[in-house]
Amino acid sequence: MKTLTVSVVTPDGPILEDSYEMVSCKAQSGELGILPNHIPVVAPLVISAVRLKRNNETIRVAISGGFIEVSNNQVTILAQSAESPSDIDVQRARKAKERAERRLKAKQDDIDFRRAEYALKRALNRLDIVEKR
Ligand code: ATP
Repeated sequence: MKTLTVSVVTPDGPILEDSYEMVSCKAQSGELGILPNHIPVVAPLVISAVRLKRNNETIRVAISGGFIEVSNNQVTILAQSAESPSDIDVQRARKAKERAERRLKAKQDDIDFRRAEYALKRALNRLDIVEKR
């Protein structure tokens, strides 16, 4: 069976490179499911889990937005940050969640509110991925 070669890359370097049967991710325009022989795609992604399927197993990688590029059965995910469940520090994510929630309750300007919203989304995404491991 044909497979996809998947690379997840961040500014810190490559996080993962391996073969999978299917990649599911959340683009700004909605859910994207990529199987072998998919047409070329470039799409922006939201803070979410990238799901990688192989042999009836799914692994999830937390990404903080970024882009997916698909071409010739090569899937590249470029993200500002990406973590596998085993790399997620739960305490850190809980603290980040509490900090963001505190900031959202405090009265402040739009930019800081937006920043806190994104920080909360990143923390919730990490906690969700650890829970579903
Ligand atoms: P924090 O406020 O805890 O730094 P953050 O959401 O602002 O969280 P990011 O800016 O998304 O953090 O990521 C900065 C770096 O820290 C990235 O390399 C990311 O992979 C890593 N990182 C952030 N939170 C965690 C976590 N809970 N567990 C493991 N690595 C994390």
